[in-house]
Amino acid sequence: MTWRTRSNVAWLRELPGVKEGEPLASRTSFGIGGPAEFFFELGRAEAIEKAIDGCSSREIPYLLLGAGTNLLVADRGVDGLVVRIVNRDHEIEGTRVRAGAGLKMMRLARIVADANLRGFEFAIGVPGTVGGAVYQDAGCWDREIREVLVEVEGYVPGAGKQTWKPDALELGYRTSALRDGALRGALVVSATVQLARGDGEEARQLMARLTRERNETQPIKTKNCGSVFKNPPGDSAGRLVQAAGLKGAREGAAVVSSLHGNFIINEGGATAADVRRLIERVMAEVKRRFGIQLEPEVEMVGRWK
Ligand SMILES: Cc1cc2nc3c(=O)[nH]c(=O)nc-3n(C[C@H](O)[C@H](O)[C@H](O)COP(=O)(O)OP(=O)(O)OC[C@H]3O[C@@H](n4cnc5c(N)ncnc54)[C@H](O)[C@@H]3O)c2cc1C
Repeated sequence: MTWRTRSNVAWLRELPGVKEGEPLASRTSFGIGGPAEFFFELGRAEAIEKAIDGCSSREIPYLLLGAGTNLLVADRGVDGLVVRIVNRDHEIEGTRVRAGAGLKMMRLARIVADANLRGFEFAIGVPGTVGGAVYQDAGCWDREIREVLVEVEGYVPGAGKQTWKPDALELGYRTSALRDGALRGALVVSATVQLARGDGEEARQLMARLTRERNETQPIKTKNCGSVFKNPPGDSAGRLVQAAGLKGAREGAAVVSSLHGNFIINEGGATAADVRRLIERVMAEVKRRFGIQLEPEVEMVGRWK
């Protein structure tokens, strides 16, 4: 039975500020994808919790959206409700920092440097939100958020507010219980990280250097989703793609970056179907050449069938 009953649609239409058929392409770093059937965006965590509780009890599908920097949204859009997480508050208490899930990691990296705290410089390489980072243990330059995380406030539809210690989240390289385990569908409301006192100017200089170096080796300023594939154990996905001769490979307006093999760029007007075909082609070719099964890091969401 479809969830699209008259009473469910009426309930969705009554959500405060809800929009119907809201375009999502501009809300993703790829700049690709169809509309959200229903779209909801409110800063207050309680409003989000109520919305996903309602969806869950009515069996309405929902997607939590952060900064859209790790998503490939289907050309036909997303069924049900898309909830954009925009709570961007933060509090600094000594060396502990609690940040709302909608705050961008890069912004938080600058905030904590200005507060003379060290240990969060890696976050300058992660353009997504704090919630999106916890969701799959984002990291950069061999550091991951789990190394500084002490506590996460969350919400599980039907079960209510929860506080998770990092162990409960089963964080690992681009995985967690939120992405791949028992907490699928749960909301990250805020995260608390433990940092160290230090020289903010040194932190800013380090971040500037890392950003400069990255700009030389990765096509950061294009429309992309960051790394398309997870690195297989002991190897690098970018190296494998390059060794398979796939740099520059193209499907429509989607092309494997000539700068870094683990990036796919939307040159302008690429469809989600173009990107997906290219991803599948790369996976098949790497498997054929090296017997290695690449696993996408980017998440494909929405109406693909
Ligand atoms: C140029 C570029 C460079 C990048 N470099 C890196 C890098 O160095 N390291 C790295 O790890 N990643 C990198 N990424 C990928 C991306 O920034 C991270 O995966 C980031 O953590 C995604 O966060 P987001 O807010 O954009 O999430 P989205 O893309 O919006 O969503 C991704 C997933 O997270 C879930 N999610 C988002 N917010 C919440 C929440 N509050 N509660 C529960 N679930 C939530 C969504 O439902 C979705 O399933 C890069 C991306 C780009 C475009």
